[in-house]
Amino acid sequence: MYEAVVGLEIHLALDTESKIFSAAKADSFGEAPNVNIDPISLGLPGTLPVVNERVIDKAIMFSLAVNCDVPDTMQFHRKHYFYPDLPKNYQISQYDRPVGEHGFIVLENGKRIGITRCHIEEDAGKSVHPTYADYSLVDLNRTGAPLIEMVTEPDIRTGDEAREFLTKVRAIAQALGVSRANPEEGKMRADVNISVHLPDQPFGTKVEVKNLNSFQSVERAIEFEQKRQTRLIEAGGAVQQSTLGWDEGGQKTYLMRVKEGEADYRYFPEPDMPPIVISQEWLAKVCSETPELPDAKLERYLALGVRDDDAKLIAYNVDVATVFDAAISTYADNPQALANWLNSDIQGWLNGSGQSWQESSLQPAHLASLVKMIDAGAISGRTAKDILPEVMTGRAPEQLVEERGLKQMTDTSAIAKIVDEIINANPKIAANVAENPKAINALLGQVMKASKGKAKPDVVRALLQEKLGVVDAV
Ligand code: ADP
Ligand code: MG
Repeated sequence: MYEAVVGLEIHLALDTESKIFSAAKADSFGEAPNVNIDPISLGLPGTLPVVNERVIDKAIMFSLAVNCDVPDTMQFHRKHYFYPDLPKNYQISQYDRPVGEHGFIVLENGKRIGITRCHIEEDAGKSVHPTYADYSLVDLNRTGAPLIEMVTEPDIRTGDEAREFLTKVRAIAQALGVSRANPEEGKMRADVNISVHLPDQPFGTKVEVKNLNSFQSVERAIEFEQKRQTRLIEAGGAVQQSTLGWDEGGQKTYLMRVKEGEADYRYFPEPDMPPIVISQEWLAKVCSETPELPDAKLERYLALGVRDDDAKLIAYNVDVATVFDAAISTYADNPQALANWLNSDIQGWLNGSGQSWQESSLQPAHLASLVKMIDAGAISGRTAKDILPEVMTGRAPEQLVEERGLKQMTDTSAIAKIVDEIINANPKIAANVAENPKAINALLGQVMKASKGKAKPDVVRALLQEKLGVVDAV
């Protein structure tokens, strides 16, 4: 059985105000074409790049987070190629002195995926090919936007592993605030290198599938290529080193070009920029600004007793983790209940309303007090669910409970009065309970209804049992 061998090249758009070498705005998502451009990003003659220090900070932070060594000196190189959306005819990138090298990320099964290097580079513009038009257009907004490119060792073997790796990279980038890393906005793109071999044989010839913009396409492309290459080899053919595209509609790869060699790029050191020395003080400053990483969050949540699957959902989504952390800081007694609310009812409400965590008006302290009131027996879980939609719009649960008189009845004598009324009104059922203990549930339901859901069910059950002389009615 031929096994797939996969290495990824991942581009992350850095989340900075300005571009990598000029003051033009970096993020143009959703904007009109060619509005965020300036002489430097256009590469006009006579302009000189000045590096944005925040780009270096973020690239160092990310490199360290994925266990890379950050050298004391790094350098920019020019990578030459002609393309209509690359006005300078070269891209300022890094080559043999990148910001990070020799890193790794550990998958859940304990497997280490090696990271060859992380380098900083500028993005190119975008060619637009309008349908039914006999011309193409160029949008240079993205030109000079800062990117990190991360290259992995060929350590990945399956589509599943690739997806898990990408999910981790996204979670890390988001937790650090380095990149929004959402493929939908083009802030995370992956090229996938794939070959197949028999496990005891040397690696085969690889192909590169370009610019996959969803994790699912990455997974599918790997599965597709594994089958295609296996069939080709088994039929006596050979894989040709080439660059492929992914046809989303047809769910298959197609040939774009036979791969160019590295020599074609004529890399040389960027003469307009000196090598950048990264001092120990600079590294220390970046370390001190580095937020908690998803794996560390996961460990912390597990130590609080949160179930594994819930802890993961929260730890790997920085927006949820932010709410969770704020909620446990106001109410630390029941982290699992807070996690349940976040992962089920609240996530469900957000899905239904099409809101993101960032857009929602939920106050973490409100979630905390909701759970606290349930734990204290002040409101029922049912009541909490009923008021959740309003809590999601920013209203305080205590206030809603107060206004509407939703507090549970804690006064046993008041509940006992209702229990008596229901027993008297249903003599037949009451008489039947001794023989059929389950009949008590019918009475319980009626008491709950009569109390408008405010009586505590376990108190009601105990009172019914006591009054009807039943020991265990379950
Ligand atoms: P190239 O010279 O074609 O750029 P590199 O050796 O720089 O190739 O590797 C580019 C990417 O391809 C890396 O992610 C690497 O892990 C991956 N890769 C290298 N060899 C193979 C292989 N035989 N099969 C699959 N992926 C590979
Ligand atoms: Mg290479």
